Amino acid sequence: MNFQDFYHPPQKIPYSFEIFPPKDEKGAATLFQALKELSVFNPIFTSVTYGAMGSTQDLTRDLALRIQKELQLRTAFHFTCVGSNRTSVREYVERLKQEGLNLVVALRGDPPNGVSHFIKQEDGFLYANELVTYLREIGGFSIAVAGYPEGHIEAPNKEIDLINLKRKVDAGADIVITQLFFNNRDYFDFVDRARKIGIKIPIIPGIMPIQNLKQIEKITKMCGASIPRDLHQQLIQSDGDVQRALEIGIQHAREQCRDLITRGVPGIHFYTLNKSHSTRRIIESL
Ligand code: FAD
Repeated sequence: MNFQDFYHPPQKIPYSFEIFPPKDEKGAATLFQALKELSVFNPIFTSVTYGAMGSTQDLTRDLALRIQKELQLRTAFHFTCVGSNRTSVREYVERLKQEGLNLVVALRGDPPNGVSHFIKQEDGFLYANELVTYLREIGGFSIAVAGYPEGHIEAPNKEIDLINLKRKVDAGADIVITQLFFNNRDYFDFVDRARKIGIKIPIIPGIMPIQNLKQIEKITKMCGASIPRDLHQQLIQSDGDVQRALEIGIQHAREQCRDLITRGVPGIHFYTLNKSHSTRRIIESL
């Protein structure tokens, strides 16, 4: 299975859902319920993140396999270079391939809190393009990589970051999934610039319906995405009113999706935060 097979205009717009491994059984039950509710939209795949600092290596694998087996949803697994070397990467990914999972979101990952630079393991990888090259060498995978419409937080500028994205594409990535963004202009500008430097593969917009102010401020601070002033102001005014903040998030993401679809994006990747309500409401209204 290749990621590119899922994006074929002019079919119905394809959706994919991103989730993370829950901390406990209660979280797992909530997640499975959410995925059951979202499965009515026939997602092209559900992707399972890999915890910061490689902290969920086993959980990611077990959850991805469980979702594929129990819910019959096609699953992609995220994998980062954190704490891995060539031998451990090979062992991990070969095992998943044997279990029928060959869709990988290949990432570098982040340095630990308080450390400014990513440090590679001995015989490991410093950048995601090296991981992509190695996965191609192992063979049998289809590979998605991360793209940053507003530039990666560590990159000196957007142009250099885009050249680094091109390295991942040249190494063999099949699609790009973008970091969350709240202004579609950032996405379309990113796609234009990417096409100009010869990136031809599908660039799938990543949409995160906002759940509440505190959480989205934390997430955007960590990843360097910006919240438009109007949207931020609305969220500040709604602070304390959980339902109101949720509605603002739904409304904003819905408008973003409408515009993206009208302007011909190949698909939409939802950052669900393990919840179904907002994503379901948005897709139902499209
Ligand atoms: P890279 O592509 O390696 O880029 C990292 C930085 O180095 C960038 O500033 C880039 O410009 C620069 N760079 C890249 N290559 C080179 C080079 N060859 N020479 C010099 N500079 C270079 N994190 C997790 O921990 N787990 C997840 O499951 C996860 N899933 C994600 C899914 C998506 C769709 C996205 C957008 C992000 C995800 N992340 C995840 C976050 C990601 O790990 C971080 O953003 C990380 O800081 C960068 O990862 P990358 O793969 O983009 O790295």
